[in-house]
Amino acid sequence: VADACIFCAIVAGDAPAQLVDSDEHTVSFMDINPFTPGHALVIPRTHSADLTEISDEDLQRTTIAARRLTRKMAETLEPAGFNILNACGAAAWQTVFHFHLHVIPRYEDDPMRLPVIPRGGDPDEIARIAGRIRGDE
Ligand code: AMP
Ligand code: ZN
Repeated sequence: VADACIFCAIVAGDAPAQLVDSDEHTVSFMDINPFTPGHALVIPRTHSADLTEISDEDLQRTTIAARRLTRKMAETLEPAGFNILNACGAAAWQTVFHFHLHVIPRYEDDPMRLPVIPRGGDPDEIARIAGRIRGDE
């Protein structure tokens, strides 16, 4: 348990949350600032800060729990679709440093909008960056 981690406190039952699913390794609860009705968070019980730190096992368990939650929501909320979101690092909007997946049910004409407008890319630039990721000479 990490000191002063609000999500560890939720796992421990020391902070309030609207739980919607849990198992031996994960807990799912409602986000207090929902993007859409039903927006929930899925976390591993074991603290890890972010995607770079979480164990393969906990990543797998958390991902499977997120899909289980989408199935529950599909039956109960009947959304039109889902976004699964992870923020890794402050620059990527992470504000709580206990790994979590956002499960965001989507509805026709809901208020959620992409914060970026994807535009056509330069193929040479895309290829150059791909080369850096692959480690080409
Ligand atoms: P992120 O930007 O991915 O780190 O998002 C953290 C999310 O946790 C935000 O959507 C917050 O609204 C949510 N959040 C923060 N504190 C709590 C809490 N005590 N209970 C439920 N959700 C929370
Ligand atoms: Zn924690």
